[in-house]
Amino acid sequence: MRRIYLDHAATTPTQPEVVKAMLPYFTNAFGNPSSIHSYGQEAKGAIEEARDKVAALIGAPSEEIVFTSGGTEADNFALKGVAFANEGKGNHIITTSIEHHAVIETCKFLERRGFRVTYLPVDAYGLVAPDDVRKAITDKTILISVMHASNEVGTIEPITEIGKIAGEASVYFHTDAVQTVGHIPVNVDDLGVDLLSLSAHKLYGPKGVGVLYIRKGTWLVPFMHGGDQERRRRAGTDNVPAIVGFGKAAELAQKDLSKEAERLTSLRDELIKGLLERIDHIHLNGHPTIRLPNNVNVSVDFVEGESMLLNLDLEGICASTGSACSSSSLEPSHVLLALGLSPEQAHGSLRFTLGRENTEEGIECVLEVLPRVVAKLRAMSPLLKSHR
Ligand code: PLP
Repeated sequence: MRRIYLDHAATTPTQPEVVKAMLPYFTNAFGNPSSIHSYGQEAKGAIEEARDKVAALIGAPSEEIVFTSGGTEADNFALKGVAFANEGKGNHIITTSIEHHAVIETCKFLERRGFRVTYLPVDAYGLVAPDDVRKAITDKTILISVMHASNEVGTIEPITEIGKIAGEASVYFHTDAVQTVGHIPVNVDDLGVDLLSLSAHKLYGPKGVGVLYIRKGTWLVPFMHGGDQERRRRAGTDNVPAIVGFGKAAELAQKDLSKEAERLTSLRDELIKGLLERIDHIHLNGHPTIRLPNNVNVSVDFVEGESMLLNLDLEGICASTGSACSSSSLEPSHVLLALGLSPEQAHGSLRFTLGRENTEEGIECVLEVLPRVVAKLRAMSPLLKSHR
């Protein structure tokens, strides 16, 4: 059966060119980049080349790029690193109620260690108000962390405005840009951030490698202790093949970023329009226009997201309900609840995230299959019966 993958926010397929670039670093060029001999220097050269490519994608100097094991480690490093290095100055962190678990759970951990965290609300579209950030700052605030775009509903946050507010208050500013880098333009100076997290497997690179961008002069304690790798900021032998793959993925993403964003935006809008026309009692989650080019998130009343997902999968359509991380739990998504949805509406959510291999044909297939699936499930839904 033909399968249509519409879960690119969970992960993307590694591009063949990326795999090709990685392969020599598993075999002939296997050196440890910390070694002084030629094998080591060959690996070191490859890492530095990859660093330049990732840096170019976000408009940063290469020295401000630190490789990590992924987006989760980058978020942990940013938050714990700044918190523990700046305890003397203050103990207050500002974030939002819609962050990824990698940020939310780190904040909860820091609260247990004596830090105070403000979780800002969002509006019905998932937007954070810059003025709320301004009002939440106290003389004890050491860090603001607001994600660039939501992995669940795709809303793009006003990071540049918040960056200005953080800069004026001299408070460090971190953004989790895992879902935006490689998909929309990202420039660390335009955004006004001191720290930015990214992850290779969300932009057609390999899993298990990420980056924390750290602006020069930012005070943070290392997350991993050990050797002197990554200018003493992140100990551990570098994952050379994965880093090389990340570099290649960054280079490819930069090449056709605006063309691909335009193509996906048009497919996204076609899917949204088609779903709203063909299914009644369906709502778009997230902002209608200030959203990622590839994200469609809807709530369908009187049906369970889980049931829709399984029925779509039987027809070869792979989507998601809630985020990749929360899809294994039965808790309604904290993001959808923060947007004001009821737990029932949150349970009836479906997320389609498009990518390079998707075409108009795939969108038409969803528009043909989903209304049928919804009609079938509603026919046996106790939720609908109790509504009537
Ligand atoms: N932050 C966001 C917004 C994400 O979407 C994800 C992954 O789903 C992560 C962080 C975690 O990244 P990684 O899978 O590289 O640990």
